[in-house]
Amino acid sequence: MHNALKFLDADYFSEGAQNVLEKEAAVNPSRAVPFVLLHLASLSVLWTGASAFSVWLAVFLYVSRMFFVTAFYHRYFSHRTYKTSRLMQFIFGALATTSVQRGPLWWAAHHRRHHKYSDEENDVHSPVQEGFFWSHIGWILSDNNMPTDYSRVSDLNKFAELRFLNRFDWLCPILLGILTYAVGEMVGSLYPSTRTSGWQCVSWGLLSTIVLFHATAAINSLAHIFGYKEFELSDNSKNNFVLAIVTMGEGWHNNHHRFPNLVRQGLKWWQIDTTYYILLLMEKLGIIWDLRKAPVIRERQLALHQEQ
Ligand SMILES: [Zn+2]
Ligand SMILES: [Zn+2]
Repeated sequence: MHNALKFLDADYFSEGAQNVLEKEAAVNPSRAVPFVLLHLASLSVLWTGASAFSVWLAVFLYVSRMFFVTAFYHRYFSHRTYKTSRLMQFIFGALATTSVQRGPLWWAAHHRRHHKYSDEENDVHSPVQEGFFWSHIGWILSDNNMPTDYSRVSDLNKFAELRFLNRFDWLCPILLGILTYAVGEMVGSLYPSTRTSGWQCVSWGLLSTIVLFHATAAINSLAHIFGYKEFELSDNSKNNFVLAIVTMGEGWHNNHHRFPNLVRQGLKWWQIDTTYYILLLMEKLGIIWDLRKAPVIRERQLALHQEQ
């Protein structure tokens, strides 16, 4: 690796990296504090009040960032279910960091591990193994799961710009916060009748971040508990209509565990998969290509799975 790039892999992530396959110990209270504070901060909507603008802004921030998480962190970085240019790959990564779900390499590395050990002992977040709380929140607050296991993401780790996003995963969320404040102030001063302010928009933006987190986490927890099985698999993944709506298609989780390398997760016409529809539009626009739309033959499927 070039010397100038070494700072990207500073000790920040090295602590405990060799322990990633060990059984997680417990929640680290010092990691839980900022998590709880963020939840409390989102309650500031009670003081800043609501306006039609700030509420719609929160909805917009939820839907757009849910798409970034499922289309980019999950279907692109974790499973490589389509291709794009190096520039768009960076833009996808930068947009997805605004979800405040850490960096692309961290997200993909942990998710690939989940698929490799689904609901087995080494699964990083299995409600079957560790219960609902651990699979939903606990694992994120454990020291063992803080480092990025680079060995699982060597295909992504070779891009310096992705390592940069992974190292400075807080940068884009802060920029988004500043932008949200600025937009709120601007709308409030240009159109006083909207009763909007910068802090009001930031509060609603925070609330949308919290809801976004719990909806994403519900795939790790609830989608391995509640729903029905389309395919009989060794894991406990389920298809769940409500979760599929809330997460723009991720709720077809049993389908996804059966065909992890497919770009689509809804396999039947009524299995609504909003993310897939938007990705088809992006394909039409030439932004992405080579979408894996059909299940590949079993042997090939297994081979791809092994690669991850
Ligand atoms: Zn799963
Ligand atoms: Zn997956």
